[in-house]
Parts: sequence; C-alpha cells; structure tokens
Amino acid sequence: MVDDQDRAVWANHAFLVLYGQPDIESLGACRFEEIYAQAWRGAEPSADYARGVAILTERQRFSGAPYVLALPHNRWVRILELRGTQANGSSFFSHVDVTAARRQQDELRKMTRHLASLAGKDALTGLANRRRFDEVLEAQCRAYRQSETMLALLMLDVDHFKQVNDAFGHPFGDEVLKSFATVLTHVVQRPGSLVARYGGEEFAILLPETDAASAARLAEFLRQQVAAMALGNEHTGAVRITVSIGIASAIHCAPDYACATLVDMADRALYDAKRSGRNQVAVAG
Ligand code: GH3
Ligand code: MG
Ligand code: MG
Repeated sequence: MVDDQDRAVWANHAFLVLYGQPDIESLGACRFEEIYAQAWRGAEPSADYARGVAILTERQRFSGAPYVLALPHNRWVRILELRGTQANGSSFFSHVDVTAARRQQDELRKMTRHLASLAGKDALTGLANRRRFDEVLEAQCRAYRQSETMLALLMLDVDHFKQVNDAFGHPFGDEVLKSFATVLTHVVQRPGSLVARYGGEEFAILLPETDAASAARLAEFLRQQVAAMALGNEHTGAVRITVSIGIASAIHCAPDYACATLVDMADRALYDAKRSGRNQVAVAG
C-alpha cells in the first residue's frame, strides 16, 4: 500500500520476502522504484534489471495495465496497481511471483524454436534454414551430376547491416530482415527454386535449370527491388538498404564437382561484389 506520494506505508509478509526486506520499518516510506533497486543491489547487473527500470518509468504513462518485472536469480513478479479507490489518495499494489509460469513460457519458446529448426525453417523469416538449404543443395547437385541440367546459386548479403542495427536497434534490424525475406520470396516464384536464410544477414537462392545469364537478370532485379524497399517507422524515419549478390552456375563446372564448389564460387563472386563497392551483382568467372 502506498500513500498519495507513492511512498510505501504497508506491505504483507510475502511482499517483504519477495523483495528481500526484513520488516515493514525497513521500507522506510520508500517509493517502489527504490525498493526494486534495493532488491537488485549486490546482484549481477543485467539487461533484465535495466528493462525493469524502464518499465517502471514508462508505467507512469500507461497506468492501469499489469506489468512483469525481473528480480535477481531469474525470478519474475507481476504487478497490478489499484489506484483511485481511497479518499486519502493511497493506492494498493498486488505483487505476484510468476517465476514458474515465466520459466515454462521460456521453455516452450525454446522448444518451438528448436522444432522449427528441425523442420528446416528459419524462425525469424519463415524461409528455409541453413540445414534445409544444405539438404536441397546436395539433392540438386546429385541431380545435376546425373543429368547435367543447369543449376545456379545466388548468395546475397545485406550491405552494412551492422550499421542498421547500431543506428536503430536489433529489433528493427529483425524487421528489416523479415521485409528483405518477403521481397525475395515474392520475386523468386519458379517451382523447384529455394530461398533460404544462410545465416545472419546472408541469404541463398538455388535455381535449378537456370543458366548464369538468367540468374544474373534475376539477381539484378532483386538488387533493384531491395534498393527500392520502403523501410522505417515514425522513430527511425525512412531507412534504405542495399544488397550485394554473388552468382555461380553449375554449367561451367566439371560434372564431378562437389556442391561445396558451387557455394565457394558464389561466395567468391559475392566478395567481389562487396569489394567493388557493394549494391551490385557479380558473376563467378
Ligand atoms: P558488409 O556490407 O560487409 O556485409 O557489412 P555488414 O555490416 O553487413 O557485415 P558484418 O558481417 O560486419 O555485420 C553483419 C551484422 O548482421 C552483424 C550482426 O549483428 C547482424 N545480424 C546477424 N544476424 C542478425 C539477426 O538475426 N538480427 C539482426 N537484427 N541482426 C543480425
Ligand atoms: Mg555477412
Ligand atoms: Mg552484410
């Protein structure tokens, strides 16, 4: 319970235990922000604590909705405020230990990610993941070796992506990667082709029965579409990204080559595109 100045005037035993306070007197008419800081005193500094402090600051603006704060040792508390019911201006807070529920949620989230990766899907973009890409590449290469049909591989890497994260934060970077993935899947529609997240801000596109010239045309179109993408929100303003693309095609290889060769060649072409100034397409020679 707090008075009209938000100073703690009473708490039950469970509250004192939760926040490591010996008795009611020790609350000393503190504001909750201070009790929360005391609970973290002596614990490892953590991002969870910083987020908790931010929530406590924010909540002044969004009073009414319950919120969850981290406590040391991976414990969590859910807080509900009941204000404006007492004539003397005092308010009630309920603090519930939700550690068990929270840990269950974390476990479920981890398991969902793990299952998605087993299913060959990248959790962020919904594209094929590296594992699935390797499987399909192997199968396509086998088909190529047997029939000598054409096979092209595009390796794409977002330019200066670290700067996007640094300037606008990792969550915004994630949104950019999702939009990027959407452009790739919209453009690459041919049956049998595969768009994959190779890792981080690197993507791979496998195009069966495609020669280097058609692959280069597609890559150039992709490059333009990415450069024209309208990204950003009211916080970031308009944001532009570009992509560098390396192309390798199996028509130039000996029929007994390993699929790693194709990846190597596309990678080297991508490196050339980067070195020549980025935002461009390079074909393996
Ligand atoms: P370059 O033009 O040479 O490719 O520069 P770059 O900054 O894109 O390359 P660098 O390899 O230095 O940085 C890649 C960045 O991509 C760093 C990493 O934090 C970021 N990144 C990788 N995966 C993710 C992700 O899933 N989400 C976000 N937001 N960022 C990611
Ligand atoms: Mg990279
Ligand atoms: Mg990059």
